Amino acid sequence: MAYRSASRNLEGRLSLQKELAQTTYKDRCRDEENRLDDALLFQAQTLARLVQFHVDWGKLRYLDLHTLGLLTSPANSSAYVQVPVWALQGTRGFAFDLFRRATPAIRFDPAELLTRLDGQVAEFFQIDTAWNASYKSNSLESMSMEINLATFAPNEVLHWEYEDLHLSENLKVRRVVLKASRFLLGPTLPAPPRNRNGGPNRGPEPPPPPPPRNNNATDTSFRPAIFIQCAYDLAKRDILFASFAQQRDEDILTFASEHKKDLEEFRSMLAAINLFTFLAGGGICFWLVRIGLAPLNLLTAAVSRINEKDFNLDITEKQLPEELKPIAIRLGLTLDQLKKAFAREKQATADISHELRTPLSAMLATLDLALRKSRSAEEYRAMLVDCRESCTNMHKDVERLLTLARLDAGADPFRPELFDLSHLASDCIKMLSPLAKTKGVELLFEGESNLEIHSDPGKLKEILVNLLHNAVQYNKPSGSVFLRLSLRLGSIIIEVEDNGIGIEASKKNRIFERFFRVEASRSHGDSTNCGLGLAIVKGYAELLGAGLDVTSELGQGSTFKIVLHAPLIKEAFAATGA
Ligand code: ADP
Repeated sequence: MAYRSASRNLEGRLSLQKELAQTTYKDRCRDEENRLDDALLFQAQTLARLVQFHVDWGKLRYLDLHTLGLLTSPANSSAYVQVPVWALQGTRGFAFDLFRRATPAIRFDPAELLTRLDGQVAEFFQIDTAWNASYKSNSLESMSMEINLATFAPNEVLHWEYEDLHLSENLKVRRVVLKASRFLLGPTLPAPPRNRNGGPNRGPEPPPPPPPRNNNATDTSFRPAIFIQCAYDLAKRDILFASFAQQRDEDILTFASEHKKDLEEFRSMLAAINLFTFLAGGGICFWLVRIGLAPLNLLTAAVSRINEKDFNLDITEKQLPEELKPIAIRLGLTLDQLKKAFAREKQATADISHELRTPLSAMLATLDLALRKSRSAEEYRAMLVDCRESCTNMHKDVERLLTLARLDAGADPFRPELFDLSHLASDCIKMLSPLAKTKGVELLFEGESNLEIHSDPGKLKEILVNLLHNAVQYNKPSGSVFLRLSLRLGSIIIEVEDNGIGIEASKKNRIFERFFRVEASRSHGDSTNCGLGLAIVKGYAELLGAGLDVTSELGQGSTFKIVLHAPLIKEAFAATGA
């Protein structure tokens, strides 16, 4: 925009300069025209003073006329004689006769004429008199310059006219026609008007005229008028004008090139300013970005220092701007969880090793014992049975680990189907009845039959078997276990309640962790327990979208509650109002 505006201003300046050049050109032409006109007139006036009367027929000889001139006027040192015409004006009789007879012709010595005519402006001269005498310069050859006498009033003493005139087809001249109504004694014609510019006239200043004896403009008495014409070839003036036009065109070209140069300079300056602004802006942006990114760099450095041995984010909140604080806090929490997960993994590896080592050690010990000496077939059989039991336990643990691995990987999908939950519960009780009998625990089912739902029966069975197994396992002799099915607010409530050893309040939240076992329970459990049962229960409950809760009191017993939101197809005990 700045460029456009500057360009407009420069364009305006250029057009003003062009106008000025044109005006200067016109002024120069006019001045030159005026100067030439003034010079023409001055030459005409000079010529008027140089008119020489020459007697070429014998009435008055040159000497006589010279003598007459000497008598009536101061002697003139020039080569011509001026006739004191003014002296003759008042005395028509003798003087006029004398004059007429003495002045039949006009002639000039060309050499004298050239030295006298200052400026050399005019090339063509023509003098016409009232008494039909005339003189033409040689340059006119056969041409002549006609005078329109109507433009000269008879009683005018001194008058001149300028005019452009065609002398021939190819020759156009500028002329001045000067009418001098009397011959003056000596070079006494008035000086030509000063040129229009106030400059001095060219040529010598004429001396002041002598007082005319009769200068009455209305005087119609004898006035021997002469018409002097000076002219120059207009082609010469046109050449001069052409040089002025060339000067003007050169000036305009100079202005145009200056304009172009100015525009280019301005464009370069704008480009430099733009470049500078761009670089400065880029530098400032870079600097701002660096300052803005400094806390991020700090955070990045702190994050890069984290490793598997050190999960602490080594940076304080004060070192960070407000915008990054939430990120750092969230990162710290995530690292905390990661640290715990990492520790759990380590613990799990240790637990798995430990859990597998126990049955493996037992099996090795049995095998060593069997190989120590030769035994009876019965003894070998008994030892093999022990080994098989150890293998079964290991197989069970590995199966549970695989189940958890499948859950983690999402490879154990929800497989819903229609089934009777009451039947499933009865089956589970039947499965655990032998163990309950062994432990002396009473196993009871509460709830109506024919409870048909749409869910995953395999996973529900696994949940119930694990919960019932624990309830029997961690019970007291003569204790009891209840499996209850009920409906509440559209949900199916499954409760496994025992009056066994119970769980410490501080451990209650940890029993769903993998490999976690309450120390006190070890005396009640068997070698097959490795702390994975409740982890599987929790994983499956989440998969079924069921709620899982436990209430327990140490020494009093525990209740595990499953809240199942499965669609109920056939509500057998709705009438009970449960
Ligand atoms: P485990 O194979 O040891 O039974 P679980 O994951 O099933 O592993 O149980 C984890 C721990 O929770 C058990 O070792 C036990 O200490 C405690 N526990 C689970 N069920 C009960 C219960 N009904 N009564 C008391 N303690 C229980």
